[in-house]
Amino acid sequence: KAAALAASDLRNIVRRKLTGYVGFANLPNQWHRKSVRKGFNFNVMVVGESGLGKSTLVNTLFNTSLYPPRDRKPPSLDIIPKTVSIQSISADIEENGVRLRLTVVDTPGFGDFVNNEDSWRPIVENIEQRYDAYLDAENKVNRMNIVDNRVHACVYFIEPTGHSLKPLDVEVMRRLHTKVNLIPVVAKADTLTDDEISAFKARILADIEYHHIQIFEGPRYELDDDETIAENNEIMAKVPFAVVGANQEVSTPDGRKVRGRRYPWGVIEVDNEEHCDFVKLRQMLIRTHMEELKEHTNNFMYENYRSDKLTAMGVAQDPSVFKEINPAVKQEEERSLHEQKLQKMELEMKMVFQQKVSEKESKLKQSEEELYARHKEMKEQLERQRQELEEKKSRIESGRPLEEKGKRKGFSLR
Ligand code: GDP
Repeated sequence: KAAALAASDLRNIVRRKLTGYVGFANLPNQWHRKSVRKGFNFNVMVVGESGLGKSTLVNTLFNTSLYPPRDRKPPSLDIIPKTVSIQSISADIEENGVRLRLTVVDTPGFGDFVNNEDSWRPIVENIEQRYDAYLDAENKVNRMNIVDNRVHACVYFIEPTGHSLKPLDVEVMRRLHTKVNLIPVVAKADTLTDDEISAFKARILADIEYHHIQIFEGPRYELDDDETIAENNEIMAKVPFAVVGANQEVSTPDGRKVRGRRYPWGVIEVDNEEHCDFVKLRQMLIRTHMEELKEHTNNFMYENYRSDKLTAMGVAQDPSVFKEINPAVKQEEERSLHEQKLQKMELEMKMVFQQKVSEKESKLKQSEEELYARHKEMKEQLERQRQELEEKKSRIESGRPLEEKGKRKGFSLR
């Protein structure tokens, strides 16, 4: 019904030229002001073995010391954790009046154990917990101002071995790729030569394809203008980004102060595109694709998780295991879920409509009552005026003979 309604609406659309300024051209500005006032949030997860430069890179990316210097002393044997722990750090950062709440989810301990088989588990669990929290918030009566703690991007650090992906990398990426936007990076790229980097990148991409791992590929919609298309292609051509992190400023031989790492043979500049892909990674994460990453998380990753979860709940309620393995039954179940969703939407629309109608009705009733009261008041006023006039008239009428009598009296006296 809703679709038919929308279709009939579409048929009724006519194109009109405006003859004067109306003002809706200001909509983007309204939207802009509102979002600036609200502020933005971005949650990024960093996964990779200890010492690959994750914290250094995050600090370099946001040009802030989000991570305090870590204690690098090896922990005593009895307090070595047995699993990957998840730590999240948030910071409010501001640039030109635009506020960004940045949350970095780190995975200390990843890859540190003798047996790293289950390293992915706490990471996946953390991502799912964040989806669950969002789902819960969505199902609450008050759905305004839901805090979005979902992971919008996952930067996966690959050790610069120069060979190929390790089995642990493949395993973890395969577990993660359907849940988050995976952005692979070659860590500490300054330890490889240019040729080694391009060969390593090619091998990583081949591995990723071979294992059917889906990495983030940029906007899925058609890009509108040539400039944006070229910009996007340039960024995507660098995946997996070969990055170098450095928070210290060093002097170059020609006397410039740059963020970089100094070697006996020269300086690797972080912000120089000739030296590494750091600039491209930052451009993608922060300058051009942040919104896209968030949208993709919401529209695909979260949506998949959500529908899987709801379907699973349906399966769990049904005692027959048969449903799980029979695609026809599953399809039927999905169809009924879809129908339920439509029914719910229709009901909501009806409720909104009824509410609107009753609001209008009560407004009409109120104005009717007001009109009636005014009418009554005016009638009374008129009546009062009429009475006054009536009284005046009768006074005048009863006064005239008296006057005449007086006149006559005087006349007779004279
Ligand atoms: P994390 O354990 O992954 O968070 O790694 P850290 O950021 O703490 O870095 C571990 C060590 O690697 C530190 O000594 C850093 O100075 C160094 N490091 C960080 N990034 C780079 C890089 O891009 N290249 C090189 N050569 N060393 C780096």
